Amino acid sequence: MPYIGRFAPSPTGLLHFGSLIAAVGSYLQARSQNGRWLLRMEDIDPPRAQPGAADAIIATLRAYGFEWDGPIRYQSTRGAAYDAALDRLRADGWLFPCSCSRREITEAGGVYPGTCRNGPPDMVEAARPMALRVRSDGPRIHFHDALQGDFDVDVAATVGDFVLKRADGLFAYQLAVVVDDAEQGVTEVVRGSDLLDSTARQIHLQRLLGYRTPDYVHLPVVIDQDGYKLSKQTYAAPLRDDDPIPALCAAMAFLGQAVPEEMAFAALGDFWAWAIRNWRLVDVPRRLSAPGIAFNGLRDAVPPLS
Ligand code: GLU
Repeated sequence: MPYIGRFAPSPTGLLHFGSLIAAVGSYLQARSQNGRWLLRMEDIDPPRAQPGAADAIIATLRAYGFEWDGPIRYQSTRGAAYDAALDRLRADGWLFPCSCSRREITEAGGVYPGTCRNGPPDMVEAARPMALRVRSDGPRIHFHDALQGDFDVDVAATVGDFVLKRADGLFAYQLAVVVDDAEQGVTEVVRGSDLLDSTARQIHLQRLLGYRTPDYVHLPVVIDQDGYKLSKQTYAAPLRDDDPIPALCAAMAFLGQAVPEEMAFAALGDFWAWAIRNWRLVDVPRRLSAPGIAFNGLRDAVPPLS
């Protein structure tokens, strides 16, 4: 089966060194196997979107020399496909409306206790806005991650029935990612280990919807001096569009690849030719996280560890 990979940023801010790792890792896994690499904008959460971020992300990826196959898919245009998937789950009896608040679930211990599975408990509850949840009962989920090893997850016990459409009408990430990965024919998902936690839920949904489960590679995420994941929320500095090579070399080093010194002066095309030819997944550290690597122009974002 021909390889299809993807990079799926959410336009909630600009790309930073942490996002670059997922972009580089997914790109090289695809290109080193003559595969296709898709770009998908996960813009399903307008309240969290930052105006202009989607275009800025695309501009940065271009400036860094990434070349995606086919048109960019915007999840904001995919409501009909997500609703169709919900209809199928509903017809099969897996979906139910739920009026519980986040606080009620936290108070119940964080795992959804199944309160509304057989209908909201009373009429007052029924008047509240409803989310749609999917039942999570079923066999435990086993999966193998090419870097992080084997997992065996009881979704019902660890998460419970989870939300696929929120009470405010927005589709949940878990639903959108599963429908699009399947409909786009993605054969391998390469992303940060912060999403490892979502994988069992996604496999559960794939099974309910009759989709094939892709292979998984969860890369180590970049952490700062205090051990926090580099993210928009921690104000990670955006990547500079005018000087991609230092960041790309640092990303390769972070991913455990031996970067020849002369790469620091390489033209973008030469850098990618070298990177695609020499990419070795087996050299990527089998860790959930690792400190960043300082490089020109991003010292503030990724301080060297003392
Ligand atoms: N849109 C998600 C993010 O930016 C990534 C989704 C995925 O790779 O599955 O964190």
